[in-house]
Amino acid sequence: MDKIWLSSPHIGDKEIQYVNEAFQTNWIAPLGPNVDAFEKQLSQFLKVNEVVSLSSGTAALHLALIAVGVKSGDIVLCQTFTFAASAFPILYLNAEPVFIDSEKETWNIDPELTEKAIIESISKGKKPAAIIIVHLYGMPAKMNELLRIAKTYEIPVIEDAAEALGSEYHNSKCGSMGTVGVLSFNGNKIITTSGGGGLTSNDTSIIKKVRHLSAQSKEPAPYYLHKEIGYNYRLSNVCAGIGRGQMEVLHERVNRRREIYNLYKVGFKNTEGISFVEEPLGTLSNRWLTTLLFDKHTFETGINNKVRIELERQKIESRLLWKPLHQQPVFENKTAFLNGVSDNLFENGLCLPSGSNLTNQEVLRTIESIKKVIV
Ligand SMILES: *Cc1c(COP(=O)(O)O)cnc(C)c1O
Repeated sequence: MDKIWLSSPHIGDKEIQYVNEAFQTNWIAPLGPNVDAFEKQLSQFLKVNEVVSLSSGTAALHLALIAVGVKSGDIVLCQTFTFAASAFPILYLNAEPVFIDSEKETWNIDPELTEKAIIESISKGKKPAAIIIVHLYGMPAKMNELLRIAKTYEIPVIEDAAEALGSEYHNSKCGSMGTVGVLSFNGNKIITTSGGGGLTSNDTSIIKKVRHLSAQSKEPAPYYLHKEIGYNYRLSNVCAGIGRGQMEVLHERVNRRREIYNLYKVGFKNTEGISFVEEPLGTLSNRWLTTLLFDKHTFETGINNKVRIELERQKIESRLLWKPLHQQPVFENKTAFLNGVSDNLFENGLCLPSGSNLTNQEVLRTIESIKKVIV
């Protein structure tokens, strides 16, 4: 039997054509027609002024922090329940991450704790310079509450939508609601350019600044002139060709991931102690990964890892949920506002194979394999 992967690339019919065009026209460079077209597709889809394509989501987060003015020593609030790349760029800038726990409904940054952290920071004489909100596993965060708080205290919002392209929140696309939005086209994401990222904004001055920084901060002059530190963060026109083809099938990819989620949901309907994170009214998750939560009162501790090991033996890839950043050695001793939600999710959750190229048969085989371990 073939290995069942967690989330592998799913290439359509058109990608190779756009990549070939890049070769035929010799646009083998970090700019060109594919880059322009891909950025246009993204900005139209997200309904934002502009999208800058970049070499990775991590690069996009780095430039997002610089663009909203984060400097050495500044405090940046960041969701603790996320991939480390959400917070690494805070350290690149020698700024101080303060980690915020999640609420139970969407598993994303808790608005109440966020406001508490802001008030506490201000009382110590230091208003946070930015808030990083993540739509984890594709599930939209509580943006209304969060944006209201950010507006009250006048703090820029960086929306990490690396996992949430195609997700929606009250008729807005995830990645379009913050001061800046961040996208990823890594190989395991909902669509891929093999590796790549994007930065979105409605603020033209931010876009201009990011384009400048991403191309080594070259000033217009007949020689190489630089007034500030630059970065080599642009996306290759070859990779953007893959992205163009992928954008044409994004809708299908989202629908298929949602179908897979539904297969799991129905499959475990009558299994006691298993739950899934549900979409709050008015939101749509792209269901990048289906995540399952074992109730800690129903099952022995460590059941998630036990299931993972048994699935691995049967050539099915699954993974524990993100280990919260406040538990990571690299972020030791950083301030955190906690409520136990992310710790519980890490201890009892499991990510299931969710790639849009999985067959129904493969999903059903996964469900049966899990049931055999837990009964
Ligand atoms: C993947 C991911 C990133 C980083 O994106 P890359 O393109 O891999 O650099 C950032 N944040 C989250 C939540 C991610 O899942």
